[in-house]
Amino acid sequence: MSENSSEDEPDAPTQAPSDSPRSPRPPWGEFRKALEAAGFRPSRQLGQNFLLDENAARAIARDSQVASGDFVLEVGPGCGFLSVHLAHAGVHLLAVEIDDRLAPIAERFLDPYPNAKVVVGDILKGKHALNESVLTDLPADGGWHLVSNLPYSVSAPVMALCAGLENPPASMTVLIQEEVAQRLLAKPGTREWGPLTVGVLQSFTAERIRDMAPALFWPRPKVQSTVVRLTRRGSLLPAEARRFRSAFAARLMRQRRQSLARVLKDMFSSREQATQLLTSCDIGGDVRADTLGLEELWGLAEGARGLGWLPEQS
Ligand code: SAM
Repeated sequence: MSENSSEDEPDAPTQAPSDSPRSPRPPWGEFRKALEAAGFRPSRQLGQNFLLDENAARAIARDSQVASGDFVLEVGPGCGFLSVHLAHAGVHLLAVEIDDRLAPIAERFLDPYPNAKVVVGDILKGKHALNESVLTDLPADGGWHLVSNLPYSVSAPVMALCAGLENPPASMTVLIQEEVAQRLLAKPGTREWGPLTVGVLQSFTAERIRDMAPALFWPRPKVQSTVVRLTRRGSLLPAEARRFRSAFAARLMRQRRQSLARVLKDMFSSREQATQLLTSCDIGGDVRADTLGLEELWGLAEGARGLGWLPEQS
C-alpha cells in the first residue's frame, strides 16, 4: 500500500462489537499510545498504511481460508492488526517486519499467541531474491500460506518470487493496490497482461475477493485496494523450468507491441531460428507478444529452450 492522501486518522475505526467472541485486537486508543510513545510517523516509502478497520482485517483472515495448525508467512505485520486475527485462528505465524519501531508493538499484541513469531527483517534480499533466513523457516513441502497487507513497493516482487520458489505457498491472500490486482486478474491482449500476470498465473489461479476503500486505512491511501486470493495449481513444473518460462515471457513483453517475428529475431541469432520457432508452435509472425495466452507462451518458451535461448543474468 502507498500513495497516501493524508495522514489523518480515519473517522471511526471499527472494533468488534463487545458481545462478540473475544476480540483479539486491543482498542485503537491503546495502539495510538504505543505509536506515540515510539515517536512514530508512517513511512510512505515503506507503504505503511495500516488496516485500522477490525472487521476488514478479520475478513481477510477469513478470506485466506487458513485453519488452526497451518503455517502462515505474513510480510509486514506493522502493528499486528491482521496478524492478531491470523494468530487467533490458531495458525503458526511467521511475521517479517522491516521497521524495528513496529515489530515490538506487533510482538506485544501477539504475546498471548505462543505460535506467533515476529522477526525484524527485509523480506527481499536485493531486487531478485527473498530473504534466505525467512526461506529456511518455511515448511519445505510447500505446506504454507502467504497472508499479507502487502506494502506497495514490494508487492509484485514478493508474489512473483514466492511463485518461483521450489516450494511455493499453497495459497497467497494479499491486500494490494487495485492496479496490481488488475494485473493479476488480467486477460491476454489487455494493458495489464504482463510479466507479473503470466509469472504468477503459471503456478496459481487468481480470484478477486473484495475491494477495500481508503477510509479503512491509516493513513488513507489515494487509491482503492483489493484482496486477491491466489491458489496453487495442482501440478507444477520444477522451479527452474517455471523460472525459465517466466524469464522468457518477460523478455517477450519487453517489446510487447511489436510483432513476434521482430521480437524473436532480436532474441535469436538468426531470422531462420525465429521462423522455425513460430512454425513449430503454429503461431503467425505478425502476432503481438502481449496477445499470447499462457499455453502459447509456454509452447514458445519450450521451443526457445530447445533452440538454446538463455535468459539474461540479472
Ligand atoms: N499488516 C499491517 C496492517 O495491515 O495494518 C501493516 C501493512 S502496511 C501496508 C505494510 C507493512 O510492511 C509496514 O508495516 C511496513 O513497514 C512493512 N514493510 C515494508 N517493506 C517491507 C519489506 N521489504 N520487508 C518486510 N516488511 C516491509
